[in-house]
Amino acid sequence: MPGRHFLFVPGPTNIPDRIIRSMAVPSEDHRNPTFPDLVLPILENLKKVFRTTKGQAFIFPSTGTGGWEAALANTLSPGDKVLASRYGQFSHLWIDLAKRLGLDVEVIEEEWGTGTHPEHINAKLEADKQHKIKAVLVVQNETATGVTSDVGAVRKAIDAAKHPALLFVDGVSSIGSLDFRFDEWNVDLAVAGSQKGFMLPAGLGLVCASQKALEARKSAKCARAFFDFEDHIKANATGYFPYTPSLPLLYGLKEAMTMMFEEGLDNISQRHHFLASGVRAAVEAWGLKVCAKEAKWNSDTVSAILVPEGINGADVISTAYKKYNLALGAGLSQVAGKVFRIGHLGDLNELMVLGALAGAEMAMLDVGIKIEPGSGVGAAQRHFRTSNSKK
Ligand code: PLP
Repeated sequence: MPGRHFLFVPGPTNIPDRIIRSMAVPSEDHRNPTFPDLVLPILENLKKVFRTTKGQAFIFPSTGTGGWEAALANTLSPGDKVLASRYGQFSHLWIDLAKRLGLDVEVIEEEWGTGTHPEHINAKLEADKQHKIKAVLVVQNETATGVTSDVGAVRKAIDAAKHPALLFVDGVSSIGSLDFRFDEWNVDLAVAGSQKGFMLPAGLGLVCASQKALEARKSAKCARAFFDFEDHIKANATGYFPYTPSLPLLYGLKEAMTMMFEEGLDNISQRHHFLASGVRAAVEAWGLKVCAKEAKWNSDTVSAILVPEGINGADVISTAYKKYNLALGAGLSQVAGKVFRIGHLGDLNELMVLGALAGAEMAMLDVGIKIEPGSGVGAAQRHFRTSNSKK
C-alpha cells in the first residue's frame, strides 16, 4: 500500500528516524575495553527515567514480561503471598505469571474499566496482622482497558496500614510517557519495556529495584538464572553484561533517552495528556464512550473505545488495517470485540493523532457505526487549537 503506515497500537510505537539511524551499527565486541563508556551512562540515565537516585536499574534482553519475572523471581520465594488487583488482561497475565512462579496470589477483582483501588489494598493489608503479604502488585497503566491507577495513592495505602510489603509496579505502558516517580512513591520494583514510551523495538525488559528489594533478594528462593540480578550487579558494576547484549538496542536506548531528556520528562507527560485529551474529545463527539468508567481512570497513553451493540470492534480494526493502512489495537479477553484501542504514546504529535482519528472514523463508517464524518477530527482539532496545556 502506498504512503506511510499509521501505527496506532499501544506498543510497539513509532520509532523516530533518529533512533532508527542510531541502531544501524556494526557489531562490536561487547567485552571491548571502551564498552563501559557506552553502558555506564545508559544505566545512569535509565535511573533518571525511573526518577530514582537510590534504586538500581537493570537491562535485560527481554520484554516487559521478562521484567515481570525478573522482579518477582529475584525478591520472593515460592509460597510467598502477594496481593494483586485484576482489572484487565495485563494485570491478569502478571498474576498468572506470579502463580506459575509458585507464589500464592491473593487477587482483588476490580471491575474492568476501573483500576487499583488503594482503599481495597489498605483493607487487605490492615487485616494482615502477621505480615504474610510480601508484595503488592500494581499495573500503573492497564493497556487493555485504557485505565491508569494512582501509584502514589497505593504507596499511601501501604504506609497507612504500616505494612512492610514491597511495592511492585508494572510501568510497561506508562514509564517514559506518564508521570512516574520511583523514589517519591517508594516503589520497590518497577518494570518497563522498550517498545512503548522508549520508542524502540521490543527486546529490552527494563527493571528498577530499590535497596529494600535488593536486600530481599538475599533470602528470596524463587529459581532464577537468566534473570538473576546478582549476575547483572556484578557485571554492570564495571560496565558490562553477564551475557551478550543487543548492541543495536543499547545504542537505540541511548538515543531514545537523549531525546526524552531533550523534551523533558514533565513535558512528555504533558504532551501525552494533551494528545490523549484530543482523542477523548473525538470519542465524545462520535457519541461513543471509552472503557474507563470515570474520568479519573482515563489513560493518557491508550484509549479503549467501546463500539455500539451489534458491532464487532474487530471489524473496525481489520477495515482500518486493510483499507487505510492504519493499525488500531484489538480488544483483549473480556473486552474482545467490544472495543478498539487507539494507542497515543511515544513519538507522536497532533497531526499524527488527527490522521489516526480520521482513519478510525472512516473504518467505523464502513462497518456501519453511525457517526458524523469529521466530527471526531473536528473536536480534536478544536481541542488542539484552544487547549493551553501544550507547552
Ligand atoms: N504490561 C503491560 C501493561 C503491557 O501493556 C504489556 C504489553 O503490552 C506487558 C506488560 C507485556 O509486555 P511485553 O509484551 O513487552 O512482554
